[in-house]
Amino acid sequence: MQYALKNDQRIEPSPKAKALCPICHTTVIAKCGTRRIHHWAHEGLKNCDSWKENETQWHRDWKNRFPSDWREYVQHDESGEKHIADIRTPHGLVLEFQHSHLEPKEREVRENFHKKIVWVVDGIRLKKDYPRFQNGLKNFKRTTTQGYYLSPNPEESFPALWLNCPVPVFFDFLGTVVTNAPDAIRNPLWQLLPGRREGNAVIVAMAREHFVEAASRPPQPIQTRQPLPQPPIQRATLNINALRQLDPQLFRKLMRPPRRPPFRRL
Ligand SMILES: [Zn+2]
Repeated sequence: MQYALKNDQRIEPSPKAKALCPICHTTVIAKCGTRRIHHWAHEGLKNCDSWKENETQWHRDWKNRFPSDWREYVQHDESGEKHIADIRTPHGLVLEFQHSHLEPKEREVRENFHKKIVWVVDGIRLKKDYPRFQNGLKNFKRTTTQGYYLSPNPEESFPALWLNCPVPVFFDFLGTVVTNAPDAIRNPLWQLLPGRREGNAVIVAMAREHFVEAASRPPQPIQTRQPLPQPPIQRATLNINALRQLDPQLFRKLMRPPRRPPFRRL
């Protein structure tokens, strides 16, 4: 945890400080060592929010892109269950930054608890993760909308757990690496939209700054649990010559003169 409570104020860890856990209100101790990022830990070994994984620099960097009072928001449900949302915006969108593995069932439970949620996934957790994506990228089909791609085989690019998520999943293949050179693959986030369009997964490359902005402002351009937005994918500007070669049948169909309305006898 980055925040704990002292005199009802949210405070960050400082050496030897003690405060209260915002969830269970027991004592937490500041851990300000050199091995892990500075954080609050329960006095006992047990963490009261079993959903929270050990925070890495990657988590912290992402959370720090948002205002501090949106970070580590204590979410309640009707039954009184509480969990910390990594980020909750004032309009109720939860962003969860996920590094470690989840079982599909766990993932579902969290989606149901937070309701309006999108995932940001550490795309380089396993050694094979990034090479798989690079390889799968070859089969992405460009669309006429910049940044939108279709993939008939998203399993070639992404870990199985995330393939059929009912909410958007953003893959971050950069980790905490600082690249000086522009890297068209690693710099954007790659969003896997829920659902399929004519058998294809829809994938959107999105600049990080744009993601932060889009998640922050209402009305939310980032939709959760909506049918696929109708991205202007089909609004193609046709290059007739290219189409003639690519799909002669469609070409002939499009070039056919429009049918006249049937002649009506008076
Ligand atoms: Zn606690």
